[in-house]
Amino acid sequence: MSSASRHSSWIELDAQALRSNIQIFRGLLKKSGVLQGIPAPALGVVLKANAYGHGLLDTLSVVHPLVDIIHLISPNDAFEIRKMEAGRAWPQRRLLVIGATEPDEFVRLAEAGVEVTLADDNVPAAAAALRSRGLRATAHVHIETGLSREGFFPSEIAAKLAFLSAPDSPFVLRGVLSHFANTEDVTEQQYAESQLSNFADGIREVGLLLGNQATNLERHIAASAATLILPDARCDSVRVGISLYGYWPSAETRLSARIVHPELPKLSPVLSWKCRSQIIKDLPAGAYVGYGCSFRCERATRIAVFPVGYFDGYPRLLSGRAHVLVNGHRAAVLGRVMMNHIVVDVTGIAGDDRPVVATLLGSDGQETVSAEMLAGWAQTIQYEICARLGAHLKRIVIEK
Ligand SMILES: *Cc1c(COP(=O)(O)O)cnc(C)c1O
Repeated sequence: MSSASRHSSWIELDAQALRSNIQIFRGLLKKSGVLQGIPAPALGVVLKANAYGHGLLDTLSVVHPLVDIIHLISPNDAFEIRKMEAGRAWPQRRLLVIGATEPDEFVRLAEAGVEVTLADDNVPAAAAALRSRGLRATAHVHIETGLSREGFFPSEIAAKLAFLSAPDSPFVLRGVLSHFANTEDVTEQQYAESQLSNFADGIREVGLLLGNQATNLERHIAASAATLILPDARCDSVRVGISLYGYWPSAETRLSARIVHPELPKLSPVLSWKCRSQIIKDLPAGAYVGYGCSFRCERATRIAVFPVGYFDGYPRLLSGRAHVLVNGHRAAVLGRVMMNHIVVDVTGIAGDDRPVVATLLGSDGQETVSAEMLAGWAQTIQYEICARLGAHLKRIVIEK
């Protein structure tokens, strides 16, 4: 038995799929560079939310040598990565924290050589904290262009970031960024175009503040969807999240990509989630299954109980809707998803009492349960299915 058998459920990461997704984006960026006669935009990847549930350090071990920039929400993730780089004698990769950051974290990030984002009301306190230590942080200005989340409106930049033009500014400005609101939700991109126009206004304002130091600012606004379908938005670097892991951001993005690309990029899902059965038993017709007696066997039924539940990130909304894969067959989840258990109908699928392995997410034989399918059943999006996979689950990187 593999070492995974000691874990109630575990996640397998397909290293080759991850590399192949990175190659697809490298190819797109290279083409952008060639078409415009400029250097290819840099490839940034987003490892927030425990690398979209794939496991921060496990994912890092594969992507670190292959990408230019790593984007994070939590400063702690940046410190974890610096620790891993030191431990393994890897070169330091560019890291950028794009999420909420406390003033004392700005100090520690500057010391660790991690780039920071000026995006919110913490900026004055962060500037003071850096000044008091005599530190300078490499920073990016987040411009509010229409998502109504972080960032400064172009019209506020002159007033709110005036200190950037002072010779003793605690920030060395390296870039400007923004984030699209609905590239994934539509197939017509007028709103994105308006955001690009606001982005240009913001960049102009930052340029006015900085004078001639502004010429080499790194501009970045594109996440997965815009990188895939809006070549004009790739700018100097991109921030690819969900599609690094092999998923299309949405059906609309996939549809739009069919128009932009002569051949649809072939993204490969990286993650599989598996669980070994805890007990297999035969129930007579009429037996009830699970809390609320929510399922009643119409016929004699062989069930397998799996030690996985909503604690681990298998949504309770999947109750009565989902199937898992056992021995290459679809096997229905019976009754309610519990905190630490699900019950599956393996009649005709599990022939004897030996434990079986269920694929909760991934492929087995000809059958696949995709993150999109789980998301549809659970009334959410693939982003949430992945991001909620328990951090406690064992991750295994598979080299095929
Ligand atoms: C999450 C996020 C991304 C990545 O988005 P995907 O759709 O997963 O590619 C990029 N930029 C910012 C600011 C984000 O918050």
